[in-house]
Amino acid sequence: MKTHILGFPRIGVGRELKDALEAYWKGSFSHNGLETVCRSLRQRHWAIQKKAGLSFVATGDFSLYDHVLDVTAMLGAVPERFGERGETVDADTYFAMARGDSSRNIPAMEMTKWFNTNYHYIVPEISKSLAPRLSRRKILEETSEAIEAGYAPKPVLLGPITYLSLSKGVDGFDSWEKCGEIVAVYAEVVAELGAVCDWIQMDEPILCADMCRQARDFFLPAYQTLNQATGKARLLLATYFDILDEDLDLALASGCAGLHVDLVHGRGQLERVLDRLPANMVLSAGVVNGRNIWRTDLSEALDVLRKIRDRIGEKRLMVGSSCSLLHAPVDLEAEPTLDAELKSWMAFAAQKCGEVAVLGDILQGRDFAARVEPSAEAVRSRRASSRVIDARVRRRCERIAPEMLCRKSPYPERKKAQSWLDLPLFPTTTIGSFPQTAQIRAQRKRFKDQAISGDEYRAFLEDTIRATIEKQEELGLDVLVHGEPERNDMVEYFGQQLAGFCFTANGWVQSYGSRCVKPPIIFGDVSRPAPMTVEWISYAQSLTSKPMKGMLTGPGTILCWSFVRDDLERAEVCKQIALAIRDEVADLQAAGIRIIQIDEAAFSEGMPIKQKDREAYLRWAVDAFRLATAVVDDATQIHSHMCYSEFNDIIHSIAEMDADVISIESSRSKMELLEAFGDFEYPNEIGPGVYDIHSPRVPSKEEIKGLLEKALRSVPKERLWVNPDCGLKTRDWPEVVDSLRNMVTAARILRSAPADER
Ligand code: GLN
Ligand code: ZN
Repeated sequence: MKTHILGFPRIGVGRELKDALEAYWKGSFSHNGLETVCRSLRQRHWAIQKKAGLSFVATGDFSLYDHVLDVTAMLGAVPERFGERGETVDADTYFAMARGDSSRNIPAMEMTKWFNTNYHYIVPEISKSLAPRLSRRKILEETSEAIEAGYAPKPVLLGPITYLSLSKGVDGFDSWEKCGEIVAVYAEVVAELGAVCDWIQMDEPILCADMCRQARDFFLPAYQTLNQATGKARLLLATYFDILDEDLDLALASGCAGLHVDLVHGRGQLERVLDRLPANMVLSAGVVNGRNIWRTDLSEALDVLRKIRDRIGEKRLMVGSSCSLLHAPVDLEAEPTLDAELKSWMAFAAQKCGEVAVLGDILQGRDFAARVEPSAEAVRSRRASSRVIDARVRRRCERIAPEMLCRKSPYPERKKAQSWLDLPLFPTTTIGSFPQTAQIRAQRKRFKDQAISGDEYRAFLEDTIRATIEKQEELGLDVLVHGEPERNDMVEYFGQQLAGFCFTANGWVQSYGSRCVKPPIIFGDVSRPAPMTVEWISYAQSLTSKPMKGMLTGPGTILCWSFVRDDLERAEVCKQIALAIRDEVADLQAAGIRIIQIDEAAFSEGMPIKQKDREAYLRWAVDAFRLATAVVDDATQIHSHMCYSEFNDIIHSIAEMDADVISIESSRSKMELLEAFGDFEYPNEIGPGVYDIHSPRVPSKEEIKGLLEKALRSVPKERLWVNPDCGLKTRDWPEVVDSLRNMVTAARILRSAPADER
């Protein structure tokens, strides 16, 4: 029986890859230096897999930036704007595709979320002129490298059907027209790999999503070609993130020697898979969660594996991780300060390798009681721990009454009750954060290192808030914010003050390229022991007679950007967070803050992969937002902010959130997304972002006025707000001041236009 993982994180336990990449981009590190770091990371990760006792090490899973971009480079699918290229795709072309080339003013390729994870990939661009040919031998070289070092490699390659499904055609070109030629390049690679290894893993997660008709049509011919090319090696068709559902038959008919299924996120599919599995097909059972940080309940996993073994025999069973471990932090050993009890419940990538191997050993009759016992003990201690279950929270959740999800009156009445705010037409505001300057970061670090006292730090933050408010008054903004200088991050800041959360020192996970995030961990029932923002916002309000907008992160976003416990439904965890935020909202109102914004930046990120599951998700995510906000009086105004622009499918849900005002990203689409809001007649107020905060460019007042006029075609004037696309924390003060000045001027010009011209 073989044991394996579907892929290992690349970034390194100390984020070595990040440092090396950023130094290389800056020009302070040579290409050779970068290569050396990468080689040593690969060797280290293979050593972890081998030492854990896995049958293979994964190869080709390492990436300088992204595994989808790796296939683009392998196929030579470099978009024309990057210029003539030679026989191979070199590192600079590779990075230019990912990051753009500012010296030649060539924009980067688009980036988007990898299924329902927080990892982002570079979207392939397939053009009519593309002539795919093997242009980068990375997977072949890395596989040879593993063999030379004495490892048994199992190469991992993103399959052609998922690759094409994730691509976009250039100028309306149908990417699938290139499928045959692309598969031919894959066949070349598979043939070479087949000569040196037993198994080749072809990742086709698209089989678990909603596949398009063409993907279905091209699937079997593609796999027929690939299976013919493999020589003595066998293909393992890897699916993950959900159940196979209607595409199970397609997967089973692929002709591949093995099929990998995700039995963590697709647990329900096992019976069906077993019933239909062709007699000679190997089943790789993904029982160790690749997307979380919890230790596997080994005895539960063993039950599943034994059941499979009894049905298909030991020889046809492989034990694996549910998906690549890319989505887990690298090594729990690098957490010396984590609470010992909590730590005993966790497993990061290195530990998960061990779990997969132990499961294989036990199934083959090697009794490793000594290694199972700690897992059982962890499961017992976690179930029994008083830190996990809080009876008061449970009771409160049970008693949530339907009225708690509803504002007292419908929006039109609330609008009247809020007239006391005395806001002008086209009120101007910002999304919350102002520049997080080097000085702010330095002071935060000093405070953390105890180089300055709490009082000194507080005084510094108060000065910063005061200066930020003075600036906003000078600019003439209508609704002010305190600027968020006390927050390093919109989730961690809240997590640190909520019960049920803990934090790692080095639990980094790649988000895209060299960018990593360190998600908080929700281990227990969530509650809010004390107010989290009231003092800062009240202080800010005390400095101005203009309305101050209190700023909170919403329950859906906190959930999405954390590692969530696996012993409670996500919807239930979200409800607990919503109640905690609700308490904060109530306290803000009681403290006289009458405009409160609850950011739901990640609202659409939690969306399930399959269309048919989305409705249910949207229901509970919307309800959580309503639960968090509906505690206020009619005269208090609730805002929400979402920083993305794909609203067409979810506009009904956005409306159901029933915020008085929403702000959304829209400058990059030049207000086009507002058509969705216009067609649907979005009932409340809306602030479509009038300039892109991702760029240092200062928009002119004419340009902003033009966008607002365009917005007025879809939004009635009484309901249009004026604000940037998102928070300003990554920008510098001079450009922020210039941009906001133009924004305020544009709103004023519009206000002063005669009524019939508006
Ligand atoms: N209030 C947050 C800010 O301005 C919102 C950030 C976000 O939407 N990502 O920074
Ligand atoms: Zn945003």
